Amino acid sequence: MSAGANPYDVAIVGAGPAGLGAAAITAGAGLTTLLLDENPTPGGQIYRAVTTTPLKERSILGGDYWAGAALVAEAQASGAEIVGGATVWSLDASRELAASWAGTSRFIKARRVILATGALERPFPIPGWTLPGVMTAGALQTLLKSSGLVPDGRLVLAGTGPLLWLFAAQLLRAGARIEALLDTTPWANYLRALPHVPAFAISRYAAQGLALRREVARQVEVVSGVTRLRAEGQGGLASVAFAARSGERRLMADVLALHQGVVPNVNLAMAAGIAHRWQPAQLCWVPVLDAAGNTSIDGIAIAGDGTGIGGALAAEAQGRLAGLAAVAAVAPERLARVPDRQLLAQALARAERGRALLDQLFAPPRWSRLPEGDTIVCRCEEVTAGQLLEAVGIGAMGPNQAKAFLRCGMGPCQGRLCGLTVTELISKARGVAPAEVGYFRLRPPVKPITLAELAAMAHTQRAVAAVVRE
Ligand SMILES: Cc1cc2nc3c(=O)[nH]c(=O)nc-3n(C[C@H](O)[C@H](O)[C@H](O)COP(=O)(O)OP(=O)(O)OC[C@H]3O[C@@H](n4cnc5c(N)ncnc54)[C@H](O)[C@@H]3O)c2cc1C
Repeated sequence: MSAGANPYDVAIVGAGPAGLGAAAITAGAGLTTLLLDENPTPGGQIYRAVTTTPLKERSILGGDYWAGAALVAEAQASGAEIVGGATVWSLDASRELAASWAGTSRFIKARRVILATGALERPFPIPGWTLPGVMTAGALQTLLKSSGLVPDGRLVLAGTGPLLWLFAAQLLRAGARIEALLDTTPWANYLRALPHVPAFAISRYAAQGLALRREVARQVEVVSGVTRLRAEGQGGLASVAFAARSGERRLMADVLALHQGVVPNVNLAMAAGIAHRWQPAQLCWVPVLDAAGNTSIDGIAIAGDGTGIGGALAAEAQGRLAGLAAVAAVAPERLARVPDRQLLAQALARAERGRALLDQLFAPPRWSRLPEGDTIVCRCEEVTAGQLLEAVGIGAMGPNQAKAFLRCGMGPCQGRLCGLTVTELISKARGVAPAEVGYFRLRPPVKPITLAELAAMAHTQRAVAAVVRE
């Protein structure tokens, strides 16, 4: 319906459950809608490659995954213009995006922008985490979903969080062998989670979580209360060492899959100048939003895990609500063509039930968030924890001074893999709250683009202005 309708009524960044839900609503109401995602096909993190995965045996990835196929089909049938392989590297307060696909960058204007950029895995900076053979569980799950691949050799999983247990079960169903699952969930978290058990018990997470634990524990050695986790090896992973109630242990390993939860992907929103605040319950930065998901910039809303971690069903409900708010703002006369707001709000409340327990139970321990000494913090620039603390000692009061002193956060990932660690380490060193320390000042391009692409853009002056914006 709306091929090439620049400016669009609505532009949505991210085709996960939130972006798909939003597009289904806005395009369904007849608004010109552009949905952009950097991955080749829609689905986001949870429904990654749901229309193309080589895994036809549905039990491997489970019912929640395949539920995404209907949502993708709904968005595709809505008339939204869905562009895969499209990376949005800039967004400004006039709601102009810069996006790159098929080797070309272009500007896109929209009356309303919905950011549905989702979540990233939290950094897990332990000694040896940069060794070949050490990966995140999410990266390995991406290989399973998109290519049907399982790791070869002696595989150890370590960390905390629902995704670790889900992925372990998916691997076992796919025929992989797991040497051990090293659970770093601190015992104290169980006590902190207790008050939230009643709400959790009636949520969909309770039965699912217990079933996954049982499925894994039947087939894999699970070691609880793990601390002092290290990946060891010269030029590659050879073993995993850790402490448990039974004392110090070491497992020979070829692959170590690390995971300690997911956090909002803030880069594009922060680079656009959207206000964020520190969220102590989830130990991360979240955008400051009103009840309808509107940000500090007029006409830009955020939905999904980019607002704070709520999971796929909450993301979809938030996306639909953000879509509804866009219709109300752009074409109120079309509100008759959208679902009842009350029903969507109830779906969101149901989806969020039980989240409080998950936040408390799976809060990663300080030892695995705050590295020491020679452990690398910034992988791009190979900056260690010791160097960062030295910089604080000579006056680096925040991440941006640390960046100037050490280049941490200046590499291709633009702080995605070190930002939280840098904020928390400086907070600890100075004895002040993370909110007072702040975060990197992010600027476009938030994802790497070639100079050739930038130079080839129409209105290059405007393109350069977008990049060198103060
Ligand atoms: C690696 C990983 C694996 C996960 N696997 C599961 C799982 O199996 N089951 C589960 O229940 N939950 C999983 N989650 C949690 C997941 O965050 C939520 O379940 C859900 O997918 C959140 O939906 P969303 O729409 O907010 O964001 P997402 O699903 O994360 O979708 C956001 C999309 O935006 C894209 N994007 C981000 N920035 C840009 C940009 N600048 N330009 C263009 N595109 C962009 C991303 O690539 C992604 O496709 C996973 C999370 C991660 C990080």
